[in-house]
Amino acid sequence: MKVLKFGGTSVGSAQRMQDVCKLITSDGKAKVVVLSAMSGTTNTLVEIADYLYKKNPEGANYVIDRLEQTYMGHIDQLYTTDEWRQQTESFLHEEFNYLRSFTKMLFTSFEEKVILAQGEIMSTNMVTNYLKEQGVKAVLLSALDMIRTDKNAEPDFNYIREKTIAQLEEHPGEEIYITQGFICRNAYGEIDNLLRGGSDYTACLIGAAIKAEEIQIWTDIDGMHNNDPRVVEGTEPVRQLYFEEAAELAYFGAKILHPTCIQPAKFAGVPVRLLNTMDPEAPGTIINNRMHRGTIKAVAAKDNIICIGIQSSRMLLAHGFLRKVFEIFETYKTSIDMIATSEVGVSVTIDKRVHLNEITAELKKYGTVTVDDNMCIICVVGDLSAQNVGFESQATEAMRQIPVRMISYGGSAHNISFVVSESDKKRALQALQECLFSYDGHVHRPS
Ligand code: ASP
Ligand code: MG
Repeated sequence: MKVLKFGGTSVGSAQRMQDVCKLITSDGKAKVVVLSAMSGTTNTLVEIADYLYKKNPEGANYVIDRLEQTYMGHIDQLYTTDEWRQQTESFLHEEFNYLRSFTKMLFTSFEEKVILAQGEIMSTNMVTNYLKEQGVKAVLLSALDMIRTDKNAEPDFNYIREKTIAQLEEHPGEEIYITQGFICRNAYGEIDNLLRGGSDYTACLIGAAIKAEEIQIWTDIDGMHNNDPRVVEGTEPVRQLYFEEAAELAYFGAKILHPTCIQPAKFAGVPVRLLNTMDPEAPGTIINNRMHRGTIKAVAAKDNIICIGIQSSRMLLAHGFLRKVFEIFETYKTSIDMIATSEVGVSVTIDKRVHLNEITAELKKYGTVTVDDNMCIICVVGDLSAQNVGFESQATEAMRQIPVRMISYGGSAHNISFVVSESDKKRALQALQECLFSYDGHVHRPS
């Protein structure tokens, strides 16, 4: 069985929902379908929660009314029979009244999570009802009965596997098993979520739990590109990525996939395919356990990077220096993304600036501190193992005209990263595109 996930824009209107239903029923095969909330809904629910935190029930009610009107418009267009239109309408009315009930009570983060869960609950009910109206054998399984996190807010994989399999077994012979992305229960049984963009994660958890034939993530972009199409001309979709390569790219801002979601699929050995709802025939990008030797796959950039350098002669021949430096970041719960060291200095990057002042103040006890703001990390992903002689030099050669603040190579066998100023990003990405990718999108072994 395959698991298919459709994001917010893919179910963003009545027409889009109908297109999704056509797509998932075209081959007549049984499948699990994970849906996001309709695009914009989760943000609107966040806005409602924000008004409630600020003790402004009028503000919240105004936003709820507006959202309800939008949804009524959608269901007018979605259904062809009065029966299903009315049924869905009364379901949605109940939903919106439920949202209104929060304006009359104490509002805490528990209530907020319940509110945030309603977007996926609404979209999945709407789509399931539409499928039933069309005569499709469809059933809605509640993600709240299958997906749970543990005390560390990490998915409780054994629980998820057991419950997901049980839910499917309880409903044999259905064609489409619909469920909500993003939402779950936590270790205490409360409604919670897998953080923004978490629907991809749900799909991968379910796919891994049932050892699916494939997990498909449907968005409105054409798979992963070998460079940032917003910045560089002539980028091409990448057809295949090794799990580790996809993980590097997801982190470095290739927005198409939730960064942590690949792990469960990787461990279960289930391939993940990225596909485009606007162009369903296109091959998309497959992410699997196959490592292609001798190719560089893609380049990605991450903005808003701060680069902190600490120079100290005390570092010379000393042990424990780096630990002291890292402890300061640890104290302020700021994660370090990239690091470069020399015998008398170390440079690190961070992307969280809330505690920058405290961190630099403490670092000054250990050396001379410099801070470069508005930097970006550019990472080149592919077969960059040490044995693959000459590949890293091609990447550095591409950067010959660009002031490079930091380089990191050897952290994994799949990546080399550069830190440059954001103002040089476009030039750097363009140069890498020209140097690394020939017409077929892959770099060739240097002669
Ligand atoms: N609806 C959630 C969000 O907007 C989850 C998702 O779409 O993946 O973040
Ligand atoms: Mg998403």
